[in-house]
Amino acid sequence: MCDKKLVHCPNLSIGCQLLVERGKTKQHISVCEFTEVACAYESLGCGVRMMRKDIEKHEANVRIAHFPMMDKIVKLQSEMLREQSKSLHLLENECQKVS
Ligand SMILES: [Zn+2]
Ligand SMILES: [Zn+2]
Repeated sequence: MCDKKLVHCPNLSIGCQLLVERGKTKQHISVCEFTEVACAYESLGCGVRMMRKDIEKHEANVRIAHFPMMDKIVKLQSEMLREQSKSLHLLENECQKVS
């Protein structure tokens, strides 16, 4: 079987129209917005699973349901933000060097 052959995403039946190279199907599934993913709060007790494209909405809509878990999340997020601003600073520095 040729890996370069274009095949439909396995999520075709639930809406993904994309054609991907056979060899890259797995890679695509890991980013496909129709792939079923678990809520980011899964490890904190939320059992919801839905398409990647909907999960952000779920996470925004059910803040209250997630509320008991928020404590942990807030800590995680502020850590992430700190990491992000660190890399932003690095980027800014790079830009200043160039200009
Ligand atoms: Zn897909
Ligand atoms: Zn959830």
